[in-house]
Amino acid sequence: MENHTDILSKITPTTGERRTILDPATGAEVGEAPVHTLEDLELAISAAGAAQPQWAALGHEARSAALHKAADAIESNAEELARILSREQGKPLNGPNARFEVGACAAWLRAAASTPLDAETVVDDGESYAKIYYRPIGVVGAIGPWNWPMMITVWQLAPALRMGNTVVVKPSEYTPLSVLALAHVINKELPEGVLSVVSGGREVGARLASHPEIGKVMFTGSTATGKEIIRSSADTVKRLTLELGGNDAGIVLPDADPAVIAEGLFWGAFINTGQTCAALKRLYVHTDIYDDVCQALTSVAAAAPMGVGLDENNVLGPLQNQQQYDIVARLVESAKDSGARVLLGGDPQADQPGYFYPTTLMADINNDNPLVREEQFGPVLPIIRYNTVAEAVAMANGLDVGLGASVWSSDLEAARDVAAQIQAGTVWINKHGAVDPRIPFGGAKQSGYGLEFGVEGLKALGVPQVING
Ligand code: NAD
Repeated sequence: MENHTDILSKITPTTGERRTILDPATGAEVGEAPVHTLEDLELAISAAGAAQPQWAALGHEARSAALHKAADAIESNAEELARILSREQGKPLNGPNARFEVGACAAWLRAAASTPLDAETVVDDGESYAKIYYRPIGVVGAIGPWNWPMMITVWQLAPALRMGNTVVVKPSEYTPLSVLALAHVINKELPEGVLSVVSGGREVGARLASHPEIGKVMFTGSTATGKEIIRSSADTVKRLTLELGGNDAGIVLPDADPAVIAEGLFWGAFINTGQTCAALKRLYVHTDIYDDVCQALTSVAAAAPMGVGLDENNVLGPLQNQQQYDIVARLVESAKDSGARVLLGGDPQADQPGYFYPTTLMADINNDNPLVREEQFGPVLPIIRYNTVAEAVAMANGLDVGLGASVWSSDLEAARDVAAQIQAGTVWINKHGAVDPRIPFGGAKQSGYGLEFGVEGLKALGVPQVING
């Protein structure tokens, strides 16, 4: 076991260009990250290409054993990894935040290692015999965002490695240390070249997406970048899994009990201080219980402490970067200007260090307000009143993204009926954003395509081959 300053010192570059990473809560230095170049990317891709045949030849059992050992290594270094993550990303240690994220890394590695995937017999009728096998793709590129940098990197690399591919990761330029630290720990259990991290800027991501030696790109990030990746990968016809932006709707039916659902609504929206792809970002509440839901949600939200991540008391943190802070501040201002009612927050303190934006709830807001239509990705929730369920469903479906959604009701069957009408990759009932390594996850509309997790997630990291005869 290493302490977190040991891990940081091991990943600090000794040569080449480097960049100082600052804590978004305090502005203090966290560490130094390498600024890798396109030449570094070439070296990583050729090392990954060289290592791949042997890694594939190990077979599922040996690769799974290595992934379980990597999960053990994460668990033995969990506190150190959580501290690095908390300081770089900003998320608190407690709540569904840094310690939770590191725990999820081990859990998803184990799930990818343990999920069986056998060849499937598709026809066997005495005349024809055909079977589908899932072969390794080769070298997989993994490009990730800054909000859940460790967990999303594991979502991408775990199934890729399990299926016999080698992986080159390009972390977000905002959170390279978290991913480098994670890979440092995992790599103790993997052969040389099987997993590498190229900590560069957008040009490194763009080259990874167009590189002829990359067979597949796993991408999680904004819809705008996803579209660029589709374009840059076109010439080499790469396989893609695209987990893109969302603007998840929640619909509270008139029979829901506000006191019972308030806590779930709060964490559905404010997990990771709202910086979560599948967080609740617009809440539609029936007029009969609108005021009660607003009141119950305000009480829960007002009681959630926000502050520096390493303080054990906090469960909400800062925005990760200035750019995101500016987006949130702009959208709340536009809502206030339109006459929406501030239930809580909306009054950032300019003189305070760090990118803290207060927990904000906005009521009586129009459905076409920018705070509703754009992905705010911060600790803000607009609450929209509706009169009929058909109207709520139409508003929920009114955008061109569809990652997650939720329906809240005391009647499970009624909630399922409404869920079936919503255009989203996942519709949760009486919860929002709960992911599970056994349950496939992916987007509808411009929230992307391809599934992660479970057997479907493993299949997505293989090339299907049919042997007919
Ligand atoms: P982003 O698209 O700005 O960046 C993501 C990654 O893409 C970064 O590593 C970046 O360097 C890289 N990149 C930038 N330009 C590139 C290019 N032309 N080619 C290849 N790579 C390039 O996203 P972000 O701001 O880091 O993340 C926030 C967004 O991600 C939000 O929209 C959020 O909803 C989405 N997200 C989606 C999921 C999901 O599972 N669907 C999960 C987390 C985040």
